Amino acid sequence: MLKYIDNKILYDYNKCQQCGICDAICPKHAISFELQHNGTHKVIVDNDKCIRCKRCVNSCPVNKCEEYKNYFDSFKDKKYFLGYNSNDKVRRESSSGGVCKTLIIEGLRSGYIDGVYTLKKTDKYPYAEGEFYTKENIPDYCDLPNSIYHSVMACTNVNRIERCNRLMIVGTSCQLRALEKIAKSRCNELIKICIFCKQQKTLDSTRFLAKIIGEKINNDKKFYAQYRGTGWPGIVKINNSSLPWHRAAQLPFGRRLWTVPGCDVCGDSYGIESNADITLMDPWIIRERNELGETLITVHTEKGLKILKDIHNIVLEAKSYIEVEPALSLKDVWRKQRLVPFFRGEECGDKIIKAGKAELRQRKLLSCIAKKLPRMPILFYRILCKAPDFRNKILK
Ligand SMILES: Cc1cc2nc3c(=O)[nH]c(=O)nc-3n(C[C@H](O)[C@H](O)[C@H](O)COP(=O)(O)OP(=O)(O)OC[C@H]3O[C@@H](n4cnc5c(N)ncnc54)[C@H](O)[C@@H]3O)c2cc1C
Repeated sequence: MLKYIDNKILYDYNKCQQCGICDAICPKHAISFELQHNGTHKVIVDNDKCIRCKRCVNSCPVNKCEEYKNYFDSFKDKKYFLGYNSNDKVRRESSSGGVCKTLIIEGLRSGYIDGVYTLKKTDKYPYAEGEFYTKENIPDYCDLPNSIYHSVMACTNVNRIERCNRLMIVGTSCQLRALEKIAKSRCNELIKICIFCKQQKTLDSTRFLAKIIGEKINNDKKFYAQYRGTGWPGIVKINNSSLPWHRAAQLPFGRRLWTVPGCDVCGDSYGIESNADITLMDPWIIRERNELGETLITVHTEKGLKILKDIHNIVLEAKSYIEVEPALSLKDVWRKQRLVPFFRGEECGDKIIKAGKAELRQRKLLSCIAKKLPRMPILFYRILCKAPDFRNKILK
């Protein structure tokens, strides 16, 4: 997070959401990044080069106040679908059902949109970067990454966005917030696809996954990682070994270990405060493990509904709120929102302080156990997950 105080731009790593917009929009190249051992970047501001234009501060997603007022009120009235690509191979190899990639690729192929800003795969850590696609530069399904859970500074190439009529931006809620201003200024109509996100992970989470699989991530950060794909919820593959995702991810995700610090100050998992048109997520609980996969789609706007219906190759099954409610994680998002003031260092009540401190203690304890012990059988980590969740017990 960047702040302007006493004629200086100051950086707070503990609130940084790792979007990378600050570097992209600095007119004087006064911002650089320092890659940490845990795979996140520290922002370095050269206050001698800086001309105090505050563009970085104004674009920083953490400074765009989230209020969560009436956040959950409209969920009963939204439209929901389970969706997937009509091609089984694409569906099977995508993160959930391949809806996101289909919107990007088929949207460009059909001319429905004429520009998309999203990620492309790269061959060095973090193995993805922001890319602007047009009808002259349509990606293939294999060019777009599945969900990457270690942090990717998705907004660093935002200057590649060229003027277009209908532009689509794809990202987590913080990335959409960071991208909004520049994207709006370069198109006549903006469509926002939010990747539902409760937390991005540091590389320590991937190191943990590697350990339980029996692989290692070296300090040079050269490794092969595939998150998701091969059915639903699919696998995690690191170097040459893999494990079913539902087994591997239980501890890091369920217990919020190795979360990017800035994710603690964001409670907008659905991108509602970022004015997303649709949100894409996994159909946890409501779907069994299967060979192909589906994406759970929450539609927030008419524009979102229209794009789903107008873009080909997506099969849609309409669902009611009652049918999808167990998968929506609303209680969890609500708990996350309650702790945001604690992590922002703002004034909060005793119960929130108690829950926040319990959360920190739990994360420290569990990550310490997981890191220090040698590789244990997967059953050990599953039992660890059954221990009471302090935060949830306090917040109910
Ligand atoms: C960090 C993160 C945390 C998530 N947490 C949850 C969760 O807690 N619960 C849940 O139900 N779902 C979560 N998801 C969403 C889920 O993993 C799928 O992305 C979603 O269901 C869409 O699936 P799909 O098959 O339609 O996507 P695909 O068609 O496979 O397309 C994936 C798209 O996501 C983009 N992408 C991948 N990684 C990133 C990234 N790090 N930042 C920005 N864009 C990215 C790719 O460029 C691609 O366009 C998370 C995703 C991410 C990236």
